[in-house]
Amino acid sequence: MARKKSMPPPDYEGLYRRHMELTREVEHLSTLREIGLAISGTLEMSETLSIIAHVVQGALDVRRLTLYTPSQEGDFLQPVVAKYGNDLITKERLEEEFEPRKGSLLGKAIDSRSVTLLNVPGNSRAVVPLMAKGEPLGVMVLEDRRDGQPFSDDDAALFQQLGSQIAIAMHNAQLYAMAVTDGLTGLYVRRYFDLRMQEEFAQAQRYKRVFSVMLFDIDHFKKFNDLHGHQTGDRVLQQFARLLQKNTRRSDICCRYGGEEMTVILPETDLQEAALSANKLCGLVRSHPFTGMEEQVLSVTTSIGVSVFGPEYGRPESMVEAADRALYQAKQLGRNRVELAGI
Ligand code: GH3
Ligand code: MG
Ligand code: MG
Repeated sequence: MARKKSMPPPDYEGLYRRHMELTREVEHLSTLREIGLAISGTLEMSETLSIIAHVVQGALDVRRLTLYTPSQEGDFLQPVVAKYGNDLITKERLEEEFEPRKGSLLGKAIDSRSVTLLNVPGNSRAVVPLMAKGEPLGVMVLEDRRDGQPFSDDDAALFQQLGSQIAIAMHNAQLYAMAVTDGLTGLYVRRYFDLRMQEEFAQAQRYKRVFSVMLFDIDHFKKFNDLHGHQTGDRVLQQFARLLQKNTRRSDICCRYGGEEMTVILPETDLQEAALSANKLCGLVRSHPFTGMEEQVLSVTTSIGVSVFGPEYGRPESMVEAADRALYQAKQLGRNRVELAGI
């Protein structure tokens, strides 16, 4: 009888290590999936940033998370959103806390394109570059695991992958912002206006809410261009747009409807409030010192048509047409004035 060949003893330690590696990998994948799903749910940039801060801090179980993006000139990294403990902190409240791009730990992480760990007892940090298509879109700083452990190489591998995922979500939000923004004025484009009108209209119907729309058309703009030149006309359009944005609510939606025509959608605003707002804006345009190419002060006036949601409008287009008819009336009645639809 042949002697039975003896089996080598099982490598329990090795098997256990492999088991732990696989468990961690599965955990990483499910964390990535969870975060991926959450951050791809929106295209709007500030919403995207808030979701990233909220979901990533929660999923990674760290005390602090801060996201930075390069400043316009590229020499600074500006914090754009943070989550400290339970507090979500938006850009406005972080304004002072920027870091230089050169020489800082954050800048170095971007240049090296890889996660940098800094484990100091009581304050461990992971600096994660956010790269999309080989371009740095920013950097994420994670501080202190809640279990008190230092960040490991394993963590670094997960953060690296996560960094690309976050950067792709930010890149998509940037592309979306470009697609819905008018290049000259920075206002939303006509297509976005149509979309938001549909949304507001549906909401107003469903929840018995009210909202208004204002249509602006600059008076005698053709003559203005003939007199001062097209370039000056363009500058005036930019200043006009800024005036609208500065003097409307954050929730109002300012759009360039086309040419020298602008619109503002005013959610939760009834006829009385909309009329007040339109008259205020008409007066502000009238008295605003618009400036031309040689900084000369120029005057501009606008006519405004206003309509307010009501059951008589079966579709959003009819509400816009009503505002357009009111605008036409304002022109007929001598311009530089506001007319309300249905009055
Ligand atoms: P009204 O008071 O009746 O509105 O007169 P208007 O001359 O403003 O009216 P109209 O709509 O006939 O002309 C609009 C002019 O706006 C035509 C065009 O020269 C000018 N315009 C449209 N888009 C732009 C633009 O992007 N830049 C500049 N500079 N001018 C523009
Ligand atoms: Mg016009
Ligand atoms: Mg005009």
